[in-house]
Amino acid sequence: MNKYLDKALEEIRLKNPNEPEFLQAVKEVYCTVEQIIDKNPQFEKLAMLERIAEPERIITFRVPWVDDNGQVVVNRGYRVQFNSVIGPYKGGLRFHPSVNQSIIKFLGFEQIFKNALTGLPIGGAKGGSDFDPKGKSDNEIMRFCQSFMTELYRHIGQDVDVPAGDIGVGAREIGYLFGQYKKIKNAYEGGVLTGKAICYGGSLARKEATGYGLIFYMREMLKAHGQTLNGKTVTISGSGNVAIYACEKAMSYGAKVVALSDSSGCIYDKNGIDLDYIKEIKEVNRGRVKDYLQKHPEAVYTERTGEDSPIWNIKTDIALPCATQNELTLNSAKKLAENGVLAVGEGANMPCTQEATDYLLEKGVLVAPAKAANAGGVATSAIEMSQNSMRFYYTFEEVEAKLDRIMTNIFNACKENADKYNCPGNYVAGANLAAFQKITDGMTAQGVV
Ligand code: NDP
Repeated sequence: MNKYLDKALEEIRLKNPNEPEFLQAVKEVYCTVEQIIDKNPQFEKLAMLERIAEPERIITFRVPWVDDNGQVVVNRGYRVQFNSVIGPYKGGLRFHPSVNQSIIKFLGFEQIFKNALTGLPIGGAKGGSDFDPKGKSDNEIMRFCQSFMTELYRHIGQDVDVPAGDIGVGAREIGYLFGQYKKIKNAYEGGVLTGKAICYGGSLARKEATGYGLIFYMREMLKAHGQTLNGKTVTISGSGNVAIYACEKAMSYGAKVVALSDSSGCIYDKNGIDLDYIKEIKEVNRGRVKDYLQKHPEAVYTERTGEDSPIWNIKTDIALPCATQNELTLNSAKKLAENGVLAVGEGANMPCTQEATDYLLEKGVLVAPAKAANAGGVATSAIEMSQNSMRFYYTFEEVEAKLDRIMTNIFNACKENADKYNCPGNYVAGANLAAFQKITDGMTAQGVV
């Protein structure tokens, strides 16, 4: 291994003990860009690797709120403003009990490279809270969001840092956050948050963008290998925003989606998933995938018991992990490969463990890496920002066409770099190489800041 890379990784490891997800994300990127590091010996003197791995700013704060019983609850809020070389900080907010600094830092680090790949002027950030929205009333969600924004507002702005949604944060939460921001600032700064509802400045097709974008990327990747989505069997983990719209777009290309999941288990419907019913369960009733059996008793539900999701035991041509980090383990990768999987597309952030990715690539499975394949969400957020600035809105078709073009360009950049650096077909490396080059060029140009 390159000596400087080795030394920098060790220093980053020592500086960030107890942050396994963050270290995993850093190692994953740095170990695939060694050829660029070899070619740029000046990086050592510039401490380039150490600087990229150190957030420009980390904010943590108290979020006190009152539940429906009058009990005061205290959660912890985070915003990691990681890198602003390409544009204002940009990245979602995650509300989930598992949230901690390591998870927010890994997500923020990934976001730097993802945002660079979009070709749009956005830096990298991420935030969130260990708040659990499950089972909370609308009023509790509103009070929590208001308290969260009462601190966050001083750190964000449409030219400074623009948060959006992620796990547990959808249009409802963005609405409450925006309302509180507007009240505190006494100004209508529409571009301060993205993922807004259409009626007050949101972009058409933003809700669909991450899932649709994943399928556009998959379409291009399959095309490069003489394949199409038509007639392929697809399994998708999760049943949230990304999973639902990946399912919708995959079906529109003639694929048959047979399974979806949530953290409790997965449903398998050999006739193809009834997506309208899933939307009703998830988007309207905020229910569980198990509820699918009420209308489709012929489907099979498998409870999740251990670390590995049962969804990856189902034979499929294309697997789309769209739930959370490290959800697809080496065991699951082996099962998928044994069953002849052709391609894996990462809709979630870092859903495959490093061992799983390495194994899949070794077996010749096509892997669409998260930071490229799920970049459609943030790209469309940037399109939402530009519409807010113009005070003019595009049609659904116009936004979707822009998204399609962006995802196609991202795939082409991954392919070009994979070919240029002698790892054809390895789009994981291709994505990292393309983004790393852009970030290091920008940081070199802007000096030591
Ligand atoms: P949602 O909250 O809409 O849905 C999340 C889904 O994943 C739910 O089905 C949830 O099940 C499941 N899930 C969450 N945590 C776990 C867990 N620990 N174990 C098993 N299942 C879990 O989130 P999104 O669809 O927005 O996000 C999904 C992934 O996509 C995340 O990794 C996110 O970072 C990534 N992403 C999202 C973007 C977006 O635009 N929304 C953009 C780019 C990436 P349950 O209800 O049981 O918790």
